[in-house]
Amino acid sequence: MLAATAAPRIDAKRRVVLDHRKRQFAQAQWAEQDYTHRMNFYTIPPTGDITLEQFEEWGIARLKVLAELEACQSRNRTPAETEEYMRPVMEKHMRLSSNRSNNSERDMERKKDHYSHWTLRLAFSGTADLRQRFARLETQLFKLRFQHDDGKERKEFITSLPMSWETVSDEEKKLWLEELKAATNSNNKTDEESWFKVDWEKVPELVERRQVLLKRGQAYVHVREQTSMVVNEFSRTLESGLELAARFLPRMDEDNRLAPILHHLSQSFTAPDAGYSEESSIGDMASISAASIDGLSSHFPLCMQNLHRELRKNSHLKHFGRLQYTLFLKGIGLNLQECIVFWRKSFKLIADDKFKSEYLYNIRHNYGEVGGDANKRGRGYTPYSCQKLLTEAPPSAGQTHGCPYRTYSPDNLITLLQHVGVSDREVLRDVREYVGKQRYHIACNRVFEAAHKGEIKKVKDQSLWPASELDTILHPNTYFKRSFLLKNLGKVQSGDIGVDGPTQQMSD
Ligand code: SF4
Repeated sequence: MLAATAAPRIDAKRRVVLDHRKRQFAQAQWAEQDYTHRMNFYTIPPTGDITLEQFEEWGIARLKVLAELEACQSRNRTPAETEEYMRPVMEKHMRLSSNRSNNSERDMERKKDHYSHWTLRLAFSGTADLRQRFARLETQLFKLRFQHDDGKERKEFITSLPMSWETVSDEEKKLWLEELKAATNSNNKTDEESWFKVDWEKVPELVERRQVLLKRGQAYVHVREQTSMVVNEFSRTLESGLELAARFLPRMDEDNRLAPILHHLSQSFTAPDAGYSEESSIGDMASISAASIDGLSSHFPLCMQNLHRELRKNSHLKHFGRLQYTLFLKGIGLNLQECIVFWRKSFKLIADDKFKSEYLYNIRHNYGEVGGDANKRGRGYTPYSCQKLLTEAPPSAGQTHGCPYRTYSPDNLITLLQHVGVSDREVLRDVREYVGKQRYHIACNRVFEAAHKGEIKKVKDQSLWPASELDTILHPNTYFKRSFLLKNLGKVQSGDIGVDGPTQQMSD
């Protein structure tokens, strides 16, 4: 895939001086693959052509699915709850149609699945910790899909695997039936069951649990064990593939187009990146003014509540705090004029002249009214995502920007949460636990869910919102809008959350 993607852009001179050991990349043969099965063991790297945008976008989409899976695990969801939660997530980001579906996008979906797996395999092969985490989540994803594959298609997929197992013939079954049933704990009274045989070394766990019949070095395994065998084999193959990818990784550093993308993706394991969407603004359903920010701040996530509290306490915020907060306010729908009013009133200890000379320009710059670079199209900067806030350099003394779940010590974090009204002991205990595991955005989502428990139950029970509107929050502006809408249920309609239906005005 990489050779194919890079090939049209490789400088001819550079190709000539390529180290002989790297020529395999320069002379790669590429071709589109056929995707006969819905499921994939990802043993063959993709060799077709895709654009750099697809390379990154597909990687991000897969990452979202893996992150949601990890979030389910962190929240101790049962397999049934995980499956229910993941269905719309997979449908939205990594749909995979069966052969029966006749979906015209089917091949493209499988291609995306294949390429995105390999993109992330490269991105997460750098350290043992990343490899382990990636292999665990990919195995879970594989299992989830495999268990819900169409029965016939699953059988065909299993047959296609190079797993060197053989179905026990009817003659052999007759010969050993009683022994087979006894050894594999089968209570089935009929003869309809099936077994297959495999080298005993391939199934050490089953041998250890005494759940196979052993004969001449072969283990006779009941068909019900097949899923776990396939899943284990997937995991083993992936783990050794990741070791191999790690050895090739230094070569990727030479590619100045792929290396930054891979770096960005690997960073996204802290919290997947989420772009800001203008739909996160509530400007079309409530009039937002400088005067309404105090009231609206109850819907703010902790990072922004913290800045708001500091601002009110000291009538001042340092540069990065102002930047983070201004962009957030802009994202919720506060227009430039009102934003200037907001800061002017908030900095009440500062004289007009000083405000104009030291602060005004930056506010206008953030809105794109002045300045060049990012403001070329006059839109200014976009609000920061959780990923950005969780991965930027931590604030130094006196600064309050960033994500408090990461920047505060656990004890100070709990105190801060109590100050903003989170008192449930169970929630605070979970926050401590998540933060201890560096699952900062999961801790934040836990607080959100506790604060909106009743409303979330209502939208779920009455199917008021699509399930995808309740996925893990990855952006402070998403936190705000979701909180605002949940606390105003009945006053705003589903169309207001950017799904469908008309938008309704409401006063604040
Ligand atoms: Fe803000 Fe995101 Fe941190 Fe929550 S996880 S406090 S929304 S940066």
